[in-house]
Amino acid sequence: MNPSDAAPVLTPVQRSELDARLRERQAELRADVAAKLRTQDDPRLVGLRNRMEDTDDWATADAMAAQDIAQVSHDLAELTQVEQALARMADGSYGACVDCGRPIPQARLYAYPTATRCVACQERREATERRSGPSG
Ligand SMILES: [Zn+2]
Repeated sequence: MNPSDAAPVLTPVQRSELDARLRERQAELRADVAAKLRTQDDPRLVGLRNRMEDTDDWATADAMAAQDIAQVSHDLAELTQVEQALARMADGSYGACVDCGRPIPQARLYAYPTATRCVACQERREATERRSGPSG
């Protein structure tokens, strides 16, 4: 027999389950980003910013902004992954490894609904990234 690992293909029910999870996460992230961006218009922050124009305390203002921006950009990065997963769901390529094209195991998709690679390809990629290092 061919030990093909019985590469599991998602059933329609499983697909819609994962689709629902992705949409839920998308809504969470959008609300989170919107909430963080709203704080940028917080009257207290605007008042603080205006005051800082007189106090030269730009270091504090920059640090606060940088922290907010880091959090928002982290959320936006995850939101992008979620939206890409939903786009793959829509075009029918969801659940296939982007590197080798084999189906990504269901257990992996349930653990990481935004996964784009099978375990083998993901490990290979991470090993390559480790070798080349963050600067490379
Ligand atoms: Zn693969």
